[in-house]
Amino acid sequence: MKGNDHTDCASCAIRRFESAADYRKRFIVQDQIDRYLSDGPHFIDETAIFAALENARNAPANDAARVRDILAKSRAIETLLPEETAALIQVTDPALLQEMADTALAIKKSVYDNRIVTFAPLYMSNPCVNRCAYCGFRAGNAEQKRRILTMDEVRQEIDVLAGTIGHKRLIAVYGEHPDTSTEYIAETIRTAYAHQVKSPRGTTVGIRRVNVNAAPLPIEDLRVLKQVGIGTFQVFQETYHRETYARLHPADTVKGNYDWRVTAFHRALEAGVDDVGLGVLYGLYDWQFELVATICHARDLERRFGIGPHTLSVPRLEPASGTDVPTTSPYLIDDATFRRIVLISRLSVPYTGIIVTCRENPESRNACVGYGITQLDASSNIAIKGYSDFASEQHQEKDRQQFVLSDTRTLEQVIAYLAQCGIITSFCTAGYRCGRTGGCIMDALKTGKEGKFCKINAVLTFREWLDDFASPATKALCEPVINRELAEIERHLPKFHPTVKEHYDRICNGERDLFF
Ligand code: SAM
Ligand code: SF4
Repeated sequence: MKGNDHTDCASCAIRRFESAADYRKRFIVQDQIDRYLSDGPHFIDETAIFAALENARNAPANDAARVRDILAKSRAIETLLPEETAALIQVTDPALLQEMADTALAIKKSVYDNRIVTFAPLYMSNPCVNRCAYCGFRAGNAEQKRRILTMDEVRQEIDVLAGTIGHKRLIAVYGEHPDTSTEYIAETIRTAYAHQVKSPRGTTVGIRRVNVNAAPLPIEDLRVLKQVGIGTFQVFQETYHRETYARLHPADTVKGNYDWRVTAFHRALEAGVDDVGLGVLYGLYDWQFELVATICHARDLERRFGIGPHTLSVPRLEPASGTDVPTTSPYLIDDATFRRIVLISRLSVPYTGIIVTCRENPESRNACVGYGITQLDASSNIAIKGYSDFASEQHQEKDRQQFVLSDTRTLEQVIAYLAQCGIITSFCTAGYRCGRTGGCIMDALKTGKEGKFCKINAVLTFREWLDDFASPATKALCEPVINRELAEIERHLPKFHPTVKEHYDRICNGERDLFF
């Protein structure tokens, strides 16, 4: 960082790589695009997507029999066809919409049981060589203060995240820059896993799963991340609509290459990183097109690799420094549409995890719980070095973060809200550490087997958090929820119950990190 304020990171890249073309050559490997696009039409076939939407618009509205057939397929945990997702988009009848919502929640419960997993974002760096029109981190945005966390600073952030708040899962986020590429990402992951801290109760706690949101990478680089234990690899396509993509991502940047980005997960799965997280940045283009395109993306991964997305994220545009795109885009969506997107996503890819982040306001996030989402972040701070600078207080500074958060509730507040709804908060990271990932977890999710592990590990990890971090009031509120879940395990999973109870008692006595 010395001698470089990263004001214009496109020039940084050129200095490190001699030319921008050299940089693009290192990070865009044409053969690692072509091999996934050579057998037939592109898996994001715009003409076919528009046709599916048009046919659904012209079909009889609110055809209950057709909708129920589609819902039966969702209940059987089968990914919908593009035309089926398009048909659900057209439903306006309140009674049918209610049936869709009830089905979404029932599916979520059968696949993931009665739990919501929680995590926190950790922004590692914001220098960036790209110039995405909607993002505060884009190169040349002089309003943004640039920073790359040192490993000591990563540890300081984790002191707060794991030691004060009690998080066990992170999504680590990076700008795209030669100073923060694969080796840096790998080092931050290693550092995060290695750093153990004391909880207020004196137990030893730490981060157990590091998911990553970063630029697409070549296969060799993804293998390096696999080796250091990356969790889910998230890359948001932003928009699947090529013309819009080209307008927002200049052609002379790495991110300007649509096909390099849209094949990011094909490379990840080939490299053995088998949990991948899709997402669209809603508000950049027509949401109906984006939703059907997401299904096409998921289906191509299933077809080629037998594994679909581990998660779907549904970020939408938020205000950011130095750009008016987030406030002037003609495709911005309202809260009701946002919820509809969540609902139809759950029905369309029934086995997948769905993440709704603190970009959304508390009312929307609360409502989405009823549509079958599986993950919520909380106590989030997206300023670079924000956790250690502001302790666990909620504080936002537009010039050191990518956009502005709408839900600033603490983890304890979110947990209390969920407990009032009868939902248990899970800190489980066991699936990944027991090899229940990729194709193996896909089968377990589809057959409902994973749900029982979700339930057991939710109870064990929630017990840890309640004992280590909860205030007496929150603890009192949550005890009935955890007791009810334990009773359900005794009733419905009698084979497992004795070992669960034995683990549970050991946790109550101060042991940590026991899982199934
Ligand atoms: N730089 C990498 C990339 O773009 O893929 C990874 C990290 S980027 C910081 C994470 C995501 O933030 C982007 O993929 C984009 O969807 C989202 N984002 C950017 N600007 C945003 C905004 N104004 N509001 C909401 N989300 C935004
Ligand atoms: Fe850079 Fe990612 Fe922001 Fe684009 S979205 S400017 S690639 S940080």
